[in-house]
Amino acid sequence: MLKKYYINTDAQGLYNITSYVRQAVNESGVNSGIAVVFCPHTTAAITINENADPDVQTDLLFALDKTYPDRPQFRHAEGNSSAHLRSSCVGASETIIIDDGSMVLGMWQGIYFAEFDGPRQRHFFVKVIKG
Ligand code: ZN
Repeated sequence: MLKKYYINTDAQGLYNITSYVRQAVNESGVNSGIAVVFCPHTTAAITINENADPDVQTDLLFALDKTYPDRPQFRHAEGNSSAHLRSSCVGASETIIIDDGSMVLGMWQGIYFAEFDGPRQRHFFVKVIKG
């Protein structure tokens, strides 16, 4: 089963999409398998990280800013090479194990859509596979 979800990002940041993925898993009826969450954008990404302390998200974004700053040497005419770099480094997808009808996530883990170039209207896919 493939589901497509839309989100509007109002700025760069991490958007918790765990409930969307959980909904896709529940609707699939799959008891044992995997869920693949995929971002089809080149200046955004999917990641799993802490959902308890929001300072973790702030620190992650701060570190990405420091690691991949905008540079005058960048040639890409759109002017958002830094966002493209962050997208590739964080990654376009995550895979989550489904067991006993639920996602196997750690207590402090959430699934995030990472926006590096917003605000934008975005979408992502959840593919649930039985196995
Ligand atoms: Zn670009």
